[in-house]
Amino acid sequence: MTSATALLIAQSLLSQTEERIRVVTPALTEIRFSADKELMALIEEAKGLLAHGGNLNPSLQEVFKRGMKFWVEKKKHEKGITANNPAKELPAAPQVDAASQTHSDPRASIPPSRYIPAPIQKAVFFRAQGRSEYKPPHDGARCTSRHALELHHHHPYGRGGAHSVENLSAYCRVHNAAQARWDARQNRSVTVFG
Ligand SMILES: [Zn+2]
Repeated sequence: MTSATALLIAQSLLSQTEERIRVVTPALTEIRFSADKELMALIEEAKGLLAHGGNLNPSLQEVFKRGMKFWVEKKKHEKGITANNPAKELPAAPQVDAASQTHSDPRASIPPSRYIPAPIQKAVFFRAQGRSEYKPPHDGARCTSRHALELHHHHPYGRGGAHSVENLSAYCRVHNAAQARWDARQNRSVTVFG
């Protein structure tokens, strides 16, 4: 193989894997990327389903828009980022009455679960509006990252912290991991010096 041929092959491989986003007009953006076999099969399947619904020749833009809309809505729903405030759907706090205090209630012997109830998770993610709620202690600028949100207990669960909307915050993965390290360090110093 000549070096010129090798260069041509390298260039064609590069252009196959290159992704490009180019703003054409304020309302239109050109997106260019290479689709693998799996994506091509999914596109063909989606086109077939759209044709079945009467849209005989959908554009790629339509296929992608429908797919992305569906997926984003599904993810937002799972994370509780919806138009309605899920806090309104929170179950009422359990009522403790005299009978359940004097007679042994089998439910009372079940240890509290590490699992955070779905309505509480949804209420926290709703308050966070899909963004990290982490705020550094000194300057007040909130993080607002949308990346991999997780729930953080301010009063740690392991030390009796409640699964409540007030005790929980949505943190991005980076800040949740950092906060866990800071908490662990603080606990160690309390144990050693306290
Ligand atoms: Zn963050």
